Amino acid sequence: MIMKLEIKNLHATIGDREILKGLSLEVPKGEVHAIMGPNGSGKSTLSKVLAGHEDYQVTGGEALMDGRNLLEMGIDERSREGLFLAFQYPVEIPGVSNANFLRAALQARLPKGEQIDAVKFYQHLYQKMDMLKMDRSFTARSVNEGFSGGEKKRNEILQMAMLEPKYAILDETDSGLDIDALKIVADGVNAMRGPDLGVLVITHYQRLLDYIRPDVVHVLADGRIIRTGGPELALELEEKGYDWLLKAA
Ligand code: ADP
Ligand code: MG
Repeated sequence: MIMKLEIKNLHATIGDREILKGLSLEVPKGEVHAIMGPNGSGKSTLSKVLAGHEDYQVTGGEALMDGRNLLEMGIDERSREGLFLAFQYPVEIPGVSNANFLRAALQARLPKGEQIDAVKFYQHLYQKMDMLKMDRSFTARSVNEGFSGGEKKRNEILQMAMLEPKYAILDETDSGLDIDALKIVADGVNAMRGPDLGVLVITHYQRLLDYIRPDVVHVLADGRIIRTGGPELALELEEKGYDWLLKAA
């Protein structure tokens, strides 16, 4: 089987405006890739399209996960099949405790009739929370409700650690992430790095990549990947900005 996330010539629109204009890239399982690009280039659009966000229309191309057509799957199915998406502003779910939320998500992945073992679930949960240095009180609190920005980030990484996705897409774009939140994301990703996980980190700033060293860096501009290179490409962009690449494209 082909073990990778493959995006081939993807076109997507919002309203009557085309945002993704033939985007292609591949993230093999076990690798960490970064997408960088100027504001408005379509980075968040890509993550939302892959999540199945209803505002976006796919007008061409393909997205495959281990050879299977992602775009034909329902939103829940994408997640059950092993795709994890973290957005910059995680949703709050009042009235649903963190522990129950995670338990329900894991339960949904089991074959019909099989039940989660509560003792094992909490062992697993506490182990991951310890790894992320999260206080146990967060198990009983409503998902993200009243959490600080850093606590939301940590919680998002906890969800990722519990769900053990095959591929994770982390949109950390634009502003807003302070250095502590960046480190939380980076520590979590680094702790989970391994042969069974492919990661696509979307970021406007090179800063995050000081902590998560990507195997490959892609540059997105105006809805297309215009350059792919090694980790040194991120440093070059930090130094020179995007203009030289845009002119060359
Ligand atoms: P990035 O994450 O790279 O900064 P986005 O994917 O958020 O870029 O946005 C790409 C383009 O799509 C921008 O020009 C933005 O204004 C436009 N866009 C995003 N969301 C919407 C929307 N809901 N309606 C109209 N245009 C949108
Ligand atoms: Mg964005």
